Amino acid sequence: MIQLFIPLNFLGFVYREIRRSLTDIENMLALLKRDAKIVDLENAPALKVTKGDIDWKQVNFAYNSDRPILQNLDLVIRAGTKVAIVGSSGAGKSTVARLLYRFYDINSGAIEIDGQNIQQVTQESLRKAIAIVPQDTVLFNTSIRENIAYGNPQASDEDINRAIRMAHLENFIASLPEGDKTLVGERGLKVSGGEKQRIAIARVLLKNSPILIFDEATSALDSHSEAAIVDAMREVAAGRTTLVIAHRLSTVVDADKIIVLDNGTVAEQGTHLELLGQQGRYAQMWAMQLQEE
Ligand code: ATP
Repeated sequence: MIQLFIPLNFLGFVYREIRRSLTDIENMLALLKRDAKIVDLENAPALKVTKGDIDWKQVNFAYNSDRPILQNLDLVIRAGTKVAIVGSSGAGKSTVARLLYRFYDINSGAIEIDGQNIQQVTQESLRKAIAIVPQDTVLFNTSIRENIAYGNPQASDEDINRAIRMAHLENFIASLPEGDKTLVGERGLKVSGGEKQRIAIARVLLKNSPILIFDEATSALDSHSEAAIVDAMREVAAGRTTLVIAHRLSTVVDADKIIVLDNGTVAEQGTHLELLGQQGRYAQMWAMQLQEE
């Protein structure tokens, strides 16, 4: 029996290792999507976030030179406020998030954080200052708790518990057979889109960056999941500069400013009520969404 056990045990080990490397590859591929030409300037200083103001000045950007995506884009995102970007599919919303994180360099203009051009500071300091809740969160084949702690390997137990509470994951975790030790993955727990986003929010809370990008999932969530995410978002956004890339309007009603992108430029901007009052594109999009619901 023992003779059989050892090879089987070894096979199990090999299987787990392969599974683990597959998730690492998945993660690596996501990172590779960015432009390899992005390099730090020689002796570039670290970004110093004093307040968290973000300013886009006449930004032009194209993935391929024959097709401009963003054109003379000006964005003002004041420290500590929540700004949402909405617009039709392909308008350039996610591109805005990618450029702020400097996955690509812009063609002309400037993107500044607290007056510092993001192309002139180290990428490491820029990416430390910005936390992203991505559309699709990568989960590892390990426990729920370890998946959350991934946001900050130095986090204390107390920090992790606090992040779990603030991301509204307590009830979900309490319902699992082995609580926060429950394993995630194909042979373990299947995690829904809404739960994944809340895990990403918990990671962001642990990363504790002054600037937050929330790239909302494109696929619709049921209203219960959506409400839990909106609540969790409110907790995480408090006191941070937050940019929400919104695919659904219901999640941005409370934003300090909503920017309507159209063909890579700002078509309208204002609060939800101001934009409804303008009876323009936003009001149309809002009416359409109400009809769909
Ligand atoms: P959605 O709401 O559908 O997610 P979006 O407003 O976020 O759309 P982006 O993803 O920013 O749109 O894309 C803007 C435009 O840039 C689209 O026309 C898209 O096809 C194009 N695009 C996006 N990524 C790339 C890329 N890596 N290479 C070339 N073109 C791209």
